[in-house]
Amino acid sequence: MSSPGEFELIAQYFARAGHPLPTRVVLGIGDDCALLQPTPGMQWAISSDMLVSGRHFFPDVSSRTLGHKALAVNLSDLAACGAKPVGFTLALSLPDADADWLREFSQGLFTLADAHDCPLVGGDTTRGPLNICITVFGEVPPGQALLRSGARAGDDIWVSGTLGDAAQALHCLWGRDELPEPEKTRARQRLEQPSPRVALGQALRGVAHAAADVSDGLLGDLGHILKASGTGAELQADVAITLIANCAYSNWASGTFDLKTGHQARDLRYVLCGGDDYELVFTALPARREAVAAAAAQSQTPVTRIGRVVAGTGVRVLGPDGQPLQGDWASFDHFKAATGSGL
Ligand code: ADP
Ligand code: MG
Repeated sequence: MSSPGEFELIAQYFARAGHPLPTRVVLGIGDDCALLQPTPGMQWAISSDMLVSGRHFFPDVSSRTLGHKALAVNLSDLAACGAKPVGFTLALSLPDADADWLREFSQGLFTLADAHDCPLVGGDTTRGPLNICITVFGEVPPGQALLRSGARAGDDIWVSGTLGDAAQALHCLWGRDELPEPEKTRARQRLEQPSPRVALGQALRGVAHAAADVSDGLLGDLGHILKASGTGAELQADVAITLIANCAYSNWASGTFDLKTGHQARDLRYVLCGGDDYELVFTALPARREAVAAAAAQSQTPVTRIGRVVAGTGVRVLGPDGQPLQGDWASFDHFKAATGSGL
């Protein structure tokens, strides 16, 4: 945006005059570069994620929600590495400088940024189709970053929080599924305002062998860990299905595990294949179960053990009897395409 409005816009909505910055931000917004002073001896953990209108969000979604989500998906990458947030930059392409839109967007953004002590230190602003790109900077002690490549056969597989809610919310928005209130609103919050598991990620340093955040669906993101680690996995379907927050609504509480009932098959599919949950999937030695529980307690984040890493490749989904289920899990890419949560 070459109009003079660009600098007023930055000053008004992003520079936060008078807002104190942590001392590690030697110089924030306003010069050609920001200057950051990392904690001595730490390594940088850096990640970028872009949100594009129509691809990653509905064009009419509230901008407060969008501000939250744009930063949340980036903080989730730091969480998956076990890194502590240091700061972030924001590159924003906007069709016009709508004051209401910008005010709400920056409020959503800064509420989450402040909660994680992660200040905005710079960026770029231009006119164009709505596009939001954030780069986060974090720090981690050398050698302690949680990588995708560290899983070992015999490890437990864990996930944080609940899974599948965001995909269910999306299907509700499309009219392909339905939930009563307040479950519907809660699922929609999970889709639009995910909580990055930053505290859990840091607490798992030295405990987890490998970790990733679940952005594209459990099978896909666990698949990245398995591929990078040269291992396979077995997942317990009757445990996994309970991860979806609204599972009770789908008759689980009242019945037995039975994928022939449509609701249960759908719930399991949401859990295994739905994207946009931004939980962590991680592996750890069975001998570290108490340490995992301590990390979960310390970060006030529930975790569930859903399977184990095995020799070989790929994921086998097992029923309660320990036998592999015949499902269409292999086709989860189509599901992702259908939910629009791919990429
Ligand atoms: P330059 O042209 O030197 O790249 P700009 O004019 O683009 O600088 O930006 C001026 C200052 O405002 C810089 O410090 C830049 O980091 C900051 N800035 C620009 N856009 C944003 C934004 N969306 N959020 C935060 N800071 C921004
Ligand atoms: Mg610039």
